[in-house]
Amino acid sequence: MATTAATTKAELRKLLPWWIGRFRLWEWEVNLSFNTEVGDGLLGQCRCQLPYRRAWIDMLDLSDEAWEKNSDTDPEVVLVHELIHVKAWPMGIENDDPLSIFEEWLCADFSTAFVALRRNQQKPPNRKKVKKDHHA
Ligand SMILES: [Zn+2]
Repeated sequence: MATTAATTKAELRKLLPWWIGRFRLWEWEVNLSFNTEVGDGLLGQCRCQLPYRRAWIDMLDLSDEAWEKNSDTDPEVVLVHELIHVKAWPMGIENDDPLSIFEEWLCADFSTAFVALRRNQQKPPNRKKVKKDHHA
């Protein structure tokens, strides 16, 4: 599995069950789709039907130039961000609730941190760098 940024739909679809397992969302049916339009400048969006444990994650098509415009946009981070929303969905925080801003911050910071951890953990140690450090 790639330790660098997932840049294709196929890679993201392969990562989805891994993250679902990590977040213990096995009971949820998560539908991932890529669209030419998601919503006002958004890269991803999700909605859920809590009683049925069903979620729909819509992501902006990876060929869209919006992905390149911002250096901090990473499709896997966006996918994980939306999955954290699924995890938080039972708390019932509506968009107009003042708490929703904290949910957004949580999703943003946790998704960035989790994706960084996944990549670092799987990356083999850089032997040259370790040797150099030891002799310094
Ligand atoms: Zn969000």
